[in-house]
Amino acid sequence: KDAGRNGYVVLAEDDRDQSRTGVRMAWKDRLVRALADGLFELHLQPIYDVRAGRVAGAEALVRLADGGELVHPGRFIYIAERAGLIAELDAWVIRNAVPMLGTLRQYAGDFEIGVNISARSLGNALIEDALTDVIEQIGVRRGELIVEITETAAVQDITVARDFADRMRDLGVEIALDDFGAGFGSFHYLKHISFDWVKVDGEFVANAHRDPRDLAMLRSIVGLANDLGVRTVAEWVSSPAAMDVARELGMDAAQGFAIGAPVPLEDFVARYLSGEVKHQSSHDDVTEST
Ligand code: C2E
Ligand code: MG
Ligand code: MG
Ligand code: MG
Repeated sequence: KDAGRNGYVVLAEDDRDQSRTGVRMAWKDRLVRALADGLFELHLQPIYDVRAGRVAGAEALVRLADGGELVHPGRFIYIAERAGLIAELDAWVIRNAVPMLGTLRQYAGDFEIGVNISARSLGNALIEDALTDVIEQIGVRRGELIVEITETAAVQDITVARDFADRMRDLGVEIALDDFGAGFGSFHYLKHISFDWVKVDGEFVANAHRDPRDLAMLRSIVGLANDLGVRTVAEWVSSPAAMDVARELGMDAAQGFAIGAPVPLEDFVARYLSGEVKHQSSHDDVTEST
């Protein structure tokens, strides 16, 4: 009886595993097809320079346009990581997001665009080929491109990440530690790698104006970043009160629904950059990459 019961339990778990595996396989096929058929799209979310009081940058966020639906990355990034597709996807994002700088410069002048790279893609040649190609193509200058390293996968070998960071510095690309405080390795990363930016996870920001524990943690993260000479971005600034906290704590930049949601490039220009060309040719003659 006991054995039978155990057998039943084991069988039930097997079924669940199998259906999970089935779902993952179906998603993998869907992602492979989406890469081949060009079904991914990019939205830009504004990043507000707190001191300058203007939208001075944008983060490119990938979406899957499939069957009339826009699927958000929370649904498929982890599958792409496990299926070995993430470097290809991240490289696609780099090749398609960075050229948007051409348009953004015309409307905003100095402007910085951020792309997300999974920690799993760090040592991958697809990523660096995409970066070097597009930097040369667009004539990207120092301070115009940020690579946000998303700690969705624990990195066993910090030297891979550090070598990547060094090569980015040589290319004039800034690096950001994304979702700081949410992952297991945040402090480990910060100890071993010189980031230009720390993006403080929204869980410490969204309620900091009404939760003293969140405020205490946010304040000390900002203090730590300041001591290390790393600039800070507040994520999930979703209310004016959260914006006030970011400003009072002396954070450098803010991102969230209170400033604006991610939208396609054309809407971004109209909504956040007033839709007027102000810098028609100021960068036309810039070809150097640093
Ligand atoms: P992330 O890099 O931290 O990007 C910010 C996410 O927070 C975005 O979700 C954005 O829509 C959302 N968000 C922004 N402001 C607010 C707010 O005020 N409140 C709340 N609740 N949410 C806000 P999204 O676009 O669904 O992306 C989720 C995550 O997927 C990203 O988090 C990033 O880790 C990953 N991701 C997105 N694009 C890529 C990509 O091209 N490559 C890789 N590897 N990961 C990506
Ligand atoms: Mg990010
Ligand atoms: Mg983030
Ligand atoms: Mg986040």
